[in-house]
Amino acid sequence: MQLLENRIIKDGKVFPGNVLKVDSFLNHQLDVDLLDKMGLEMKELFKDSGVTKILTIEASGIGVGCLVARHFNCPLLFAKKSKTLNIKGDVYTSKVESFTHQCTYDIIVSKDFLNENDTVLIVDDFLAKGNALNGLIDIVNQSGAKLAGCGIAIEKGYQGGGDKLRAQGIRVESMAIVEKMDDKTGKIIFRR
Ligand code: 5GP
Repeated sequence: MQLLENRIIKDGKVFPGNVLKVDSFLNHQLDVDLLDKMGLEMKELFKDSGVTKILTIEASGIGVGCLVARHFNCPLLFAKKSKTLNIKGDVYTSKVESFTHQCTYDIIVSKDFLNENDTVLIVDDFLAKGNALNGLIDIVNQSGAKLAGCGIAIEKGYQGGGDKLRAQGIRVESMAIVEKMDDKTGKIIFRR
């Protein structure tokens, strides 16, 4: 999506450790109009998939997830991060290794909101190694719901998570795929 690539070039900042900061429009301050346009694009891509629910992970997936859900006219469900796992049986749980915080945490989703009658589009702000998406896919599988695919704002292609999922036959659509970035020069190159 050209609009997103232009915005990344204009406002994105490359930090050491493979981190791209896009706090000014994607995951701290939100450019709602840009998120809405991404939502529309994802609707166009997945319009024939019968999506009944958008699933994301707190906190930074919620912004883009809301604007995607708006275009599908369906609920947004977000997995909660939990340091203490309460095994009550009324939640689906999975483990996620955090790319940005370098720790492992549990994610939980209430069984009240996801079941075998759902078709799920997973949405997130970033895709790097794929750990967050793998946790969410695990939860979709536990629920018996159908997975339509994954819609991502920014994929860092060189970290391999997206291509691993595609190799498993999972449809992954990213609005921008960063192929290379350099924290010394700040240069960002996109996949074509
Ligand atoms: P993964 O689990 O695919 O390795 O990483 C995805 C998660 O880590 C996303 O939910 C996102 O919040 C965070 N993340 C990964 N890479 C970046 C990055 O370069 N910048 C920011 N802001 N978040 C990232």
